[in-house]
Amino acid sequence: MAHHFSYLRAEQLAALKKTADAIVTPGKGILAADESIATIGKRFADVGVENIEENRRQYRQMLFSAEEIGSYISGVILFHETVYQKDDSGKPFVKLLQEKGVIPGIKVDLGVVDLMGSEGETTTQGLDDLKKRCDQYYKDGCRFAKWRCVIKIREHLPSQLALMENANVLARYATCCQQAGIVPIVEPEILPDGSHDLETCQKVTEKVLAHVYKALSDHHVYLEGTLLKPNMVTAGQACKNQTKAKEIAKATVTALQRTVPPAVPGIVFLSGGMSEEEASVNLNAINQFEAKKPWALTFSFGRALQASALKVWAGKEENVNKATQEFMTRAKANSEASLGKYGGGVKGAAAEAILFIKDHAY
Ligand code: 13P
Repeated sequence: MAHHFSYLRAEQLAALKKTADAIVTPGKGILAADESIATIGKRFADVGVENIEENRRQYRQMLFSAEEIGSYISGVILFHETVYQKDDSGKPFVKLLQEKGVIPGIKVDLGVVDLMGSEGETTTQGLDDLKKRCDQYYKDGCRFAKWRCVIKIREHLPSQLALMENANVLARYATCCQQAGIVPIVEPEILPDGSHDLETCQKVTEKVLAHVYKALSDHHVYLEGTLLKPNMVTAGQACKNQTKAKEIAKATVTALQRTVPPAVPGIVFLSGGMSEEEASVNLNAINQFEAKKPWALTFSFGRALQASALKVWAGKEENVNKATQEFMTRAKANSEASLGKYGGGVKGAAAEAILFIKDHAY
């Protein structure tokens, strides 16, 4: 074992920790608005909006201009294009968010590719010039990043190859980010596709996270300057035996307790195709579940924070205020859920809509 290795300086570590801690300020979470151009195109198609740059700008402006965004949202994950867009008055979105006390983040992975010889499993690409891109994003105001890996549950999956490869690529990504002063959100998403039960999802989640934290240790990643973005532990989308929020909370917290070191400041769940209301109710149950929980447990939702707002907006100027209100209503519900104080039943234009997408790509 090597005794001497070059590591980050104390002030670099302190800055990373400060950012990670700020993102998981009690009662706040992340808006994942980093849909790639193809993915936002699919969302727009559902509400009859053309996928052109100006519409993407208008849509993100509607979200980011929300007066009270900073009360519930600590960070927003942006797609590359959005980092360089401006609001109607010419103010860069990055500045608009910073002025509202919201930390800009950036999706830095370049999507998934097949693992040769596997049963449809994947790894995630984008490492080659990652350190250079992170240096640039830091200069441009981003302080955290996201990299999504995808794991599938089938009869013989995930394979050992997929577990090891995805853990390793997440660790390499995390080192590139930390060297650039950017907090890596480590996202090993287990897809909800399949008819597996809750126990199977819990077991696979534990195996995935154990591999991830072994790899982060091997790569000398500074855990205090990271965040984890996992799936909640649920039965597969096609499982006949769907479980209640309390059981989801128990399985999720147990899997995390067994694998995620207390040095990690926070866990920010993805919504993974749950409806807005389901995601809020489950997050609330996780926070209400009585157990040792040494990390903040909050949200980094994409679909489950935007579905109602997008539906009401539908690309029309006259709907902007109402759509922003929908976004704030759901953000407030999730803020309460992150504190275990969500009473449930908050309405929205698409609050109950199932947002599951088969084999979801981002
Ligand atoms: P969903 O909340 O829509 O699953 O997306 C979150 C995300 O950022 C996935 O990478």
